[in-house]
Amino acid sequence: MSFKPANKIQDLQYFGEFGGVNPSISDSSTYTFLSAKTMFDTFEGNADGCYLYSRHSTPSNLHLGEALAAMEGTETANVAASGMGAITPVLLQLCGAGDHIVSSRTIYGGTYAFLKNFTPRLNIITTFVDITKLDSVEAAISKNTKILYCESVSNPLLEVADIQGLSKLAKKHNLKLIVDNTFSPLSISPSKLGADVIIHSLTKFINGSSDTVGGVVCGTQEFIDELRNVNDGASMLLGSTMDSLRASSVLKNLRTLHIRMKQHSKNAAYLAEKFEKAGLKTVYPGLESHPSHRLFKSMYNEAYGFGGMLTVDVGSLEKANELMELMQERNLGYLAVSLGFYKTLFSAPGSSTSSEIPEEEQKEMGLSDGLIRFSIGLDDDIERTFDIMKACMEELNILTHSVA
Ligand code: PLP
Repeated sequence: MSFKPANKIQDLQYFGEFGGVNPSISDSSTYTFLSAKTMFDTFEGNADGCYLYSRHSTPSNLHLGEALAAMEGTETANVAASGMGAITPVLLQLCGAGDHIVSSRTIYGGTYAFLKNFTPRLNIITTFVDITKLDSVEAAISKNTKILYCESVSNPLLEVADIQGLSKLAKKHNLKLIVDNTFSPLSISPSKLGADVIIHSLTKFINGSSDTVGGVVCGTQEFIDELRNVNDGASMLLGSTMDSLRASSVLKNLRTLHIRMKQHSKNAAYLAEKFEKAGLKTVYPGLESHPSHRLFKSMYNEAYGFGGMLTVDVGSLEKANELMELMQERNLGYLAVSLGFYKTLFSAPGSSTSSEIPEEEQKEMGLSDGLIRFSIGLDDDIERTFDIMKACMEELNILTHSVA
C-alpha cells in the first residue's frame, strides 16, 4: 500500500500565536464570548471555531485530535482522558437499552469487562465471537445488533481482524464497525479498510513515554459532533476529558511515532524469529507461522512492519514469572503492564491485563498460563538483547534447542 500516514502528520502546520513552533497551550477551562448571541449559538452547536468550555473542546485538544485524524485518514477526532474514556462513550453513544453488540472475544480485558459486566446493567448485551471466523461473526448478528467491535491486532493474543471482510458484513447488516487500533498505529489504517470508527489508547505506542493515559476516537465530523453534543453526547456528558497540557505533550511525542514504530517492529521481528528458531512457541504477525500472517500483509503499510508486540509461551506461570523477574534483574526491560515504551515491557496477561476474563474463557480462547506478552523496546543493539535473553532462558531451562 502506498498510503503513508506519517507524512500527513508532518504536513500539519500548527504554530503558536506568537510564532512559537509549537502551538500555545490553552490554559483555560472556560472561554469569553464577544456577544451573548454567539454563546447561545455555540450551545446550539452552530458557532464553528468558538470555544465554550474545556470539557467540550480546547484548542490544544483539537490540535491533537486533528493530527490523529490525519494519521488515521478520518474527517476528525476527539481526544479523551484515557483509552477506556474513548471506548466507553462510543459504545454508549451508539447503543441503548435493548441493543446488541457483536465483539471479538480476544480484546483488552477492560473493554471485555465493560461489555460483559457493565453494559448488561443498561440492557445492552454482547455476543463474543472468534473474530477470525467471519461466518461465526455473521451468525451472531441479530436484528438488534448495532456494533461490530474488534481490535485490529488483539490484546493479548495478537489475532488479526480482517477489517475489509468485517466492514462488508457491517455494511450488509447496517452496523457500525468499531476498530481499536492501539496495537498497530501506522502499520494498519482501519479507515482505509472500511472501519467506521477508529479508537486508540494513546497511553501506548502513540504517546510512547509511559507518562500518561490518553485516548482518541477518530471518525466522521457528524459522529464526533454527536459525541460532543452538549445535550446527549456521551463524551461531553460522561466527562472523560483530556487536559490541554497533556494534549500538547502527546502531540509532541506523536511527531516521532513513525520512527519509533519502525524500530519497535524491526526489533520485535528479530526477536520473534530467534525465539521461534529456538523452539519457543512464539506468536508474532510477522512470522510465516502466524495464522493471519498473509492477512496482515494484505492490510499493512509495509514501512511500519508488523508491530512491536509478540508473545512467547514458556509452559507455566511459575516459569513465566521466574523469567520475567530475571530479565528485569538483567535490565532487559520492566515487568510491567502497558506497551509502547522505549524499554521492553513484559507481563503475563492471564494474571494481569486479561485477569478480568474468567479462567475457563481464557483457556477457551487460547490464553495459557505460561504466556508472556512482550512490548519490544527501541533497543539500538537488539542482537545483544537477544543474547542476554537467551542466557536467561538457558539458566531457567526454558530453551530446548540451541540457537545460532
Ligand atoms: N485498548 C487496548 C488494546 C489496550 O491495550 C488498552 C489498555 O491496555 C486499552 C484499550 C485501554 O486504554 P487505557 O488504559 O488508556 O484506558
